[in-house]
Amino acid sequence: MDIKYKPRDIIVESSEKKLLIQWGDGHTSVYPFGGLRKNCPCVFCQGGHHAMGKPMDPAKFLVDTSDRLKITNLTMSGNYAIQIQWSDGHNTGIYRFEYLRDGCPVEAGMVSPEN
Ligand SMILES: [Zn+2]
Repeated sequence: MDIKYKPRDIIVESSEKKLLIQWGDGHTSVYPFGGLRKNCPCVFCQGGHHAMGKPMDPAKFLVDTSDRLKITNLTMSGNYAIQIQWSDGHNTGIYRFEYLRDGCPVEAGMVSPEN
């Protein structure tokens, strides 16, 4: 797999409500929790099996989500994805690294880069 899809570091910034992923090519993606949840790739959130396989929509990160949703646990799913457990109990979303990187809201200009 291309190193741009290999995470070097994955950081849950609970106070900032952001997930940060630093990739093998040095790019850092910033995913505010609200948009990340709105882009949950599970069959329930996508609205059925026929709707699966869509790319991440970076525009969903523009919506301000000042709710209290947090990530309570994040685990590796094989070496190709992360599984996120949300504070409301939802945990069926498996976010593939290609899905995350290709939908990076920083590269799409929707979210400011970390510095
Ligand atoms: Zn879901």
